[in-house]
Amino acid sequence: MSEINGKELQKQLAKEFSSAWDNLKDNEMTEVFNLSEDYKLFMDRGKTERESVKEIMTRAKAAGFISLTEALAKGSITAGDRIYAENKGKAIALFIIGQEDLHNGMRIVGAHLDAPRLDLKAFPLYEDGGLALLKTHYYGGVKKYQWVALPLALHGVIIKNNGEKLEIVIGEDEGDPVFYISDLLPHLAADQMTKKMSEGITGEGLNILIGNIPFNGGDISDKVKLNVLKLLNEKYGIVEEDFTVAEIEAVPAGRARDVGIDRSMVAAHGHDDRVCSYAALKAVLELEAQKSTVVGLFVDKEEVGSMGNTGMQSAFFENVVAELLELQGQTSHLHVRRAMMNSKVLSGDVMPGFDPNYPDVLDKRNGAFIGKGVTIAKYTGARGKGGTNDANAEFVGEIRTLFNKNDVVWQVGELGKVDQGGGGTIAYMLANYGAEVLDCGTPMLSMHAPVELVSKVDLYMTYRAYKAFYIG
Ligand code: MN
Ligand code: MN
Repeated sequence: MSEINGKELQKQLAKEFSSAWDNLKDNEMTEVFNLSEDYKLFMDRGKTERESVKEIMTRAKAAGFISLTEALAKGSITAGDRIYAENKGKAIALFIIGQEDLHNGMRIVGAHLDAPRLDLKAFPLYEDGGLALLKTHYYGGVKKYQWVALPLALHGVIIKNNGEKLEIVIGEDEGDPVFYISDLLPHLAADQMTKKMSEGITGEGLNILIGNIPFNGGDISDKVKLNVLKLLNEKYGIVEEDFTVAEIEAVPAGRARDVGIDRSMVAAHGHDDRVCSYAALKAVLELEAQKSTVVGLFVDKEEVGSMGNTGMQSAFFENVVAELLELQGQTSHLHVRRAMMNSKVLSGDVMPGFDPNYPDVLDKRNGAFIGKGVTIAKYTGARGKGGTNDANAEFVGEIRTLFNKNDVVWQVGELGKVDQGGGGTIAYMLANYGAEVLDCGTPMLSMHAPVELVSKVDLYMTYRAYKAFYIG
């Protein structure tokens, strides 16, 4: 009778998700750090969805992608063609046409470029107490108390009366001024400190300081506001009405930074979800023609429900697929349906990682961990999986096999303990077409905080995962 070695049997039968750092091969440590340097650059160049689309387009063009308009002018497409389709400067899709016809399905990684932030209201500028301020309306799920007492930058566009589009970034260069929302001094915060955290700072209290010097001359009111208007007019040629036709976002000022004495992590604004966007972009740009058409799909408005003509609920993506099908000589709408239905999708979005400071919100057996690689989440949702895509086991199995075959270090994740809260991604919208969709992205800490945190090795494994998925 042979003695069963428990340790050996455990190794054979039990599963333990291990550190991705421990699983790196020969030169991979260097690759992890090199990739992160480029990622930080990507994050610094794209602090809004518009800027991110620009950066993606710049990189795509440099990698030989042509616009859909150019492809349409050519009149046909063949395997290996690299095409991008931009949607109103806020969303973009990159295609590498595959060897098989499009209606056989695509391999898509979909991620979003918008991130929680403060948007200026339509008529934001006012004066109170000798200060000029800008009123804001927060965008997405923010904890309002996190946005006070930190340097802010303003990014956005203003459409002038003559139709000219003015793009502004103030607060990112060393010499730039920054902006600031004040908080109450602790000495006088007796009432505030007894309030719930959701009420201590209010939405209408998130007013950004923009000036203090009064206009010199004339017996008029609101001199500080006037001086701000004067300076804005001198610098940008705008008047107050122009704010009403602008999209200006306040984000934390400053660059993405390494975190930790070992430089293992990156702190930046908007990892959610530019980290998955970057990983998908990097993978797409490196590929040649595959069997299936591969797609990097980067959308807007995820944080506010994917509505609007730049969000995932719009027909943009479907319309572009229809255009490409026509370039392959297939004009029946049935082909569009087939192309969508036969597609395989990784919905790239971030997952909450286990946080030692808040150990109670995740089920440690099913939650993701920082540094344990890319995360697969079979389901998301809230209160009994409400709103989830819940990927089919068959498709999850296909991805598991693929990742294992390619030495992608992966782990499982979920959006929190049962009944603790939850959330969703763009997964279900692509699944509505009948495509197979699995949530697969990067674990992170401080999701939706002004500055969020990811591990470099998780970014690297996300990129490796998407690349393996594209190749299939
Ligand atoms: Mn997200
Ligand atoms: Mn989010």
